[in-house]
Amino acid sequence: MKLLVPVKRVLDYNVKPRVKADGSGVDLSNVKMSMNPFDEIAVEEAIRLREKSGGGEIVVVSIGEAKAQETLRTALAMGADRAILVVAEQKVEPLGVAKLLQAIVAEESPDLVILGKQAIDDDMGQTGQMLAGLLGWGQGTFASKVEVADGKVAVTREVDGGLETVSLTLPAIVTTDLRLNEPRYASLPNIMKAKAKPLANKTPADYGVDVAPRLETLKVVEPGKRQAGVVVANVDELVMKLQAMGIAK
Ligand code: AMP
Repeated sequence: MKLLVPVKRVLDYNVKPRVKADGSGVDLSNVKMSMNPFDEIAVEEAIRLREKSGGGEIVVVSIGEAKAQETLRTALAMGADRAILVVAEQKVEPLGVAKLLQAIVAEESPDLVILGKQAIDDDMGQTGQMLAGLLGWGQGTFASKVEVADGKVAVTREVDGGLETVSLTLPAIVTTDLRLNEPRYASLPNIMKAKAKPLANKTPADYGVDVAPRLETLKVVEPGKRQAGVVVANVDELVMKLQAMGIAK
């Protein structure tokens, strides 16, 4: 089974983002960057599916600055077989990413593309759905369980009030949710081995895709500071305060 896993390099989830003084975006200079956590889950799932299916290939792809190579090496150290880096000078929006992935899918013909449900930097949550639309493929989004059998993939999704399972004919798109699996750490020997795995360098022009931005960021601001709370002595006092605020009757 052939699997394609797009992985994005983002600000590490432990780092508190700082907004640039001119309000044009988040300051990414000298901060720790890592693989988007939902993409780690996608790589892990691909490795497990390859194991279960008794073989196949996992191709990881990242679109971004040249340093995204580090993110791809991490995916290779986890167990992916081969990587494609599409170096883009400027930030590529979800539609641009989806169009590049569409072109890569045309070249690679994977059975399944597994993406994260969202990249934690911009919280767009769009790329997998757009890719499914562009390809005309079925999509199982926010997956908490994925089972492949007989040319189909059953995707269990956490929805309001329970679990929904959808059955898709392969090839298909899956996006990962948090509870799908717990990604492995790459061992030191595998980190060393990953350095020798193939990594192809490409540009958007190689795929004939226009990645010019369509959105204009007007302003980025820090969230407002939380007001200090008040400790109340008892429930009566709490109710009085809520009444005074017009929240309780
Ligand atoms: P988003 O729609 O930006 O929230 O991203 C959803 C998913 O699309 C991510 O979890 C990745 O799997 C994939 N993705 C988005 N942007 C990129 C990128 N620049 N390079 C590789 N994969 C990406």
